[in-house]
Amino acid sequence: MIEFEQLTVPSEGDKIETGDGRMVVPNKPIIPVIEGDGIGRDIMKVTRRVVNAAIQTAYGTEKQIIWFDIYAGENAFEKYNEWLPQDTFKAIEHFRVALKGPLTTPVGGGFRSLNVTLRQVLELYACVRPVRYFQGVPAPVTHPEKMDVVIFRENTEDVYAGIEWEQGTPEVHKVIELLRTEMGVEIRQDSGVGIKPISIFGTKRLARMAIQYALNHGRRTVTFVHKGNIMKFTEGAFCAWGYELAKEEFADVTLTEDELYSDYDGNLPEGKILVNDRIADSMLQQILTRTDEYDVIVTPNLNGDYLSDAAAAQVGGIGMAPGGNLSDDVALFEATHGTAPKYTDQDVVNPGSLILSAVMMLEHIGWQEAADLVIAGLEKTLLQKRVTYDLERLMEGATKVRTSEFGAAIIENFPPPFP
Ligand code: NAP
Repeated sequence: MIEFEQLTVPSEGDKIETGDGRMVVPNKPIIPVIEGDGIGRDIMKVTRRVVNAAIQTAYGTEKQIIWFDIYAGENAFEKYNEWLPQDTFKAIEHFRVALKGPLTTPVGGGFRSLNVTLRQVLELYACVRPVRYFQGVPAPVTHPEKMDVVIFRENTEDVYAGIEWEQGTPEVHKVIELLRTEMGVEIRQDSGVGIKPISIFGTKRLARMAIQYALNHGRRTVTFVHKGNIMKFTEGAFCAWGYELAKEEFADVTLTEDELYSDYDGNLPEGKILVNDRIADSMLQQILTRTDEYDVIVTPNLNGDYLSDAAAAQVGGIGMAPGGNLSDDVALFEATHGTAPKYTDQDVVNPGSLILSAVMMLEHIGWQEAADLVIAGLEKTLLQKRVTYDLERLMEGATKVRTSEFGAAIIENFPPPFP
């Protein structure tokens, strides 16, 4: 039995096991949960209530999540005098699937961000962001319903590796000098310098996860988004290694655009996935003008950062955008917004992002029926225009509800689970 410094494992429930790329989910999985700072309390309470209700409606007493509270951020500092205690990493790693609210980045805590640290220490190499439209949500484009993509953003390399030297320091002068003498590269003396690594290993594991996801979920296209026309050996290589992986491991189910036109007259045959690529700047136009041509998107860290938020904005903003950070063994699902501290404990903010992240979590563990109930309840609640302040101020004729009331409305709007 696993031992923690200051946590007691729930007496009920079992661990989710993984092996051979498969996950074995018990009927009562123990799922660690980080409540989060600021509005974390408001949205986590409601999210747990909605998820519990969906599971009960879908499976009766057969299945249940055993939530296991673990600590990060302010509550960890109170309990452990640390922002991110070892217990927290250990619990997520051991129990494999976890849910997380937003965390404040401590000023002067020696961290770039608690979120980035969690992703890096747990080697959660894929940031997965599904972006789709919910009818009724105010959106800035004429056809928001055309958006239905899942973005796989690399989470450990590129600018996220954070390899930088500050202008004016002895270190940056050393790097500039080394580049001049050893590589023949001239850099202005008053520069700051950053390094952007992209590896075969990091690229191929991400491409593998994305193509496998496309196969498992009946998606038709996987698009590598890169800036390879300018950065040939990082971004360009990312794209080349992506195609290489598709050929090496998924040759029987994938086609390139050239093959699609030369062999199939442009018509994608059943059971095949089209693998293509787009330059990042063009992609930011395409996602707006040819939205429904995109499906699964695979991209290095920085492009993914821009593209995820731009795509989310197109369907009504990041207030409703969910996210998951995944490795082969561990998955941490989280709200994509921050702690919005001015709204803490007021029961007013939109819990949509965390609820949808929990839906991703339910899908990840294969509890699709419960996930579908939450989505159906949410869709109906939005159509009834019973929404929190952020959406109410943009929707004509809407009724403003509290965070808790929004959750209650979703539950009330669950359709009967089985005919
Ligand atoms: P933020 O917390 O996301 O809030 C910015 C604004 O976005 C809020 O004032 C509010 O706008 C709106 N908003 C965010 N979440 C909302 C929700 N659930 N419902 C309705 N409106 C919502 O960003 P921030 O103020 O830049 O960051 C605050 C702290 O959060 C910082 O310490 C930052 O480091 C941290 N952060 C954490 C994460 C994470 O844990 N993943 C992500 C981002 C930031 P209005 O006031 O206009 O309504």
